[in-house]
Amino acid sequence: MSDPQSHRQLVVGNWKMHGSHAVNEALLEALKSAGPLPCNAAVCAPFPYLAQTAERLARSAISWGAQDCSAHEQGAYTGEVSAAMLADFGCRYAIVGHSERRALHAESDQLVADKAQAALARGVTPIVCVGETLAERDAGQTDAVVKRQLSAVIHTLAHCASEMMVAYEPVWAIGTGLTATPEQAQAVHALLRAQLHAATEHAASMKLLYGGSVKPDNAASLFAQPDIDGGLIGGASLKAIDFLAICRAAQR
Ligand code: PEP
Repeated sequence: MSDPQSHRQLVVGNWKMHGSHAVNEALLEALKSAGPLPCNAAVCAPFPYLAQTAERLARSAISWGAQDCSAHEQGAYTGEVSAAMLADFGCRYAIVGHSERRALHAESDQLVADKAQAALARGVTPIVCVGETLAERDAGQTDAVVKRQLSAVIHTLAHCASEMMVAYEPVWAIGTGLTATPEQAQAVHALLRAQLHAATEHAASMKLLYGGSVKPDNAASLFAQPDIDGGLIGGASLKAIDFLAICRAAQR
């Protein structure tokens, strides 16, 4: 059955490698008791806390996801977590290709695409991150970089491409306090939307999230842009009051 609220903007928290059982209890309780939100919301917790997150958010309006998944189905891949394992207990989203993984774990465009494909094959929606570094932006390469990153995923997913979500996260804006202006973000989102249009007839309804130092005071102006359908929120997702304020800035 299709989700009757799928047209709403989506705000996803990326907790990164933060939290503890006790800290998560308080955060999840605050999110769960927040009351109705004007958007769809989700949190992506570290693997060891996914069960806690699933349990605490059961029967709430907030969904949950993982921050990565393996490109492999199963086997001798010590330390990896497969999409089948995530799906086994109801995981809805998996972030793939976050810039921290691309940079710190040398994840290639093709590996990211393979992870997205592995997630989709198990019914887990991949949130595919793309974004340029500051050096690439300064060199005028932003468009070429994000197009290259997205193209690998579109090519690999083929007719399923419309089932992913895309997060534009300029690397220079992640965790730095620097945010793309709404106009800068919209320009890249429009470019990504056009690229998706060329690949699928469902591009207009696909979710394109913006991430990079989104805070309560800049969320509304970003979310007001026509091709920004929500946000991927790092640091500000660790404080319930900030994450909820960002959710309440959703525009549609
Ligand atoms: C992120 O890690 O995806 C992110 C956008 O982080 P921050 O909001 O802290 O910039």
